Amino acid sequence: MSAVANLFDKAIAASLPLIPKAIVRRFARRYVAGEHLEDAVARVKELKSWGASATLDVLGEEIESIEAGERARLDYLRVLEVIKDEALDANISIKLTAFGLKLDPEATYSRVRDVVQRAREFSNFVRIDMEDSSTTTATIEIYRRLRAEGFDNIGLVLQAYMRRSLADVEALSELVPSYRLCKGIYVEPEEVAYKEFGEVSDNFIAVLEKMLETKSYVGIATHDHALAKRAEKAIAERGTDVSSYEFQMLLGVDQPLGTRLMEAGHNLRVYVPFGDEWYLYCMRRLKENPKIGRYVLFGLFKR
Ligand SMILES: Cc1cc2nc3c(=O)[nH]c(=O)nc-3n(C[C@H](O)[C@H](O)[C@H](O)COP(=O)(O)OP(=O)(O)OC[C@H]3O[C@@H](n4cnc5c(N)ncnc54)[C@H](O)[C@@H]3O)c2cc1C
Repeated sequence: MSAVANLFDKAIAASLPLIPKAIVRRFARRYVAGEHLEDAVARVKELKSWGASATLDVLGEEIESIEAGERARLDYLRVLEVIKDEALDANISIKLTAFGLKLDPEATYSRVRDVVQRAREFSNFVRIDMEDSSTTTATIEIYRRLRAEGFDNIGLVLQAYMRRSLADVEALSELVPSYRLCKGIYVEPEEVAYKEFGEVSDNFIAVLEKMLETKSYVGIATHDHALAKRAEKAIAERGTDVSSYEFQMLLGVDQPLGTRLMEAGHNLRVYVPFGDEWYLYCMRRLKENPKIGRYVLFGLFKR
């Protein structure tokens, strides 16, 4: 990205907190299902009638108190209950820092274990989102520990911008993990992450090919049309069965791409965030990745 575009993004990000919350709420409505679980349930049903499945995310990250980690556990247990009662085509995505990873890793493990166990009882699945690079090793450790305990209804996310991802796939290959592969949303130093657009895309395909080669299930999470096409080519060349992968997108982003992918015969899962922390979530996302500020601004002008 040019220095001017970079400065422009930073200026947008800096001014976003000045936009009245009511306006941000209008923007957020497209990308966040709502404040309540019922809002998310309604969205999941809409998505189903469109042809897509869902993954539910209770908004919240990096907590400051142990009680908040307990709340995450209870919130997710309730989500699992409702998915079962309403027979929704949905699993869940969790962030370990919302369960207390940075405060108390052992307590985090036990809370996450509870959720994974309940999900298993309900024949459901838990995807562990990947957060910034300070948490990568700890996240993979928790995943390994759960697998060692016999839980196989869990999956991991790897980020294509991370230089280590290809090596992570190799190191984890004997577990044949279920993955989500995405570019990565956090701002990372050059030592750990590829920074150039083309490098990230090339690594995405290299990691995807390694995941497919090692027989992992892959959730291909992207809205980048060119990258989706390259992924489709990699899938076709290997003759990968449709039951071995899916495409994944974020709620409210590029529905035409989702329609195109489903019409081409691929399965699609949509990430549905909800909860009362929507404002914080939006603002944190914007701070972490000013590029998204552009989407907010353009979204406002499009209305
Ligand atoms: C289902 C799903 C789960 C994810 N989970 C994680 C995770 O666990 N950890 C992590 O670090 N990252 C996660 N991400 C985010 C991901 O890493 C990227 O930052 C994000 O998807 C943008 O990359 P892209 O591949 O869509 O390509 P880009 O080239 O960045 O985007 C392509 C186009 O998509 C549109 N677009 C992309 N993102 C948005 C957005 N948020 N709002 C509006 N428009 C948008 C824009 O029009 C853009 O031009 C996830 C993404 C998806 C789709």
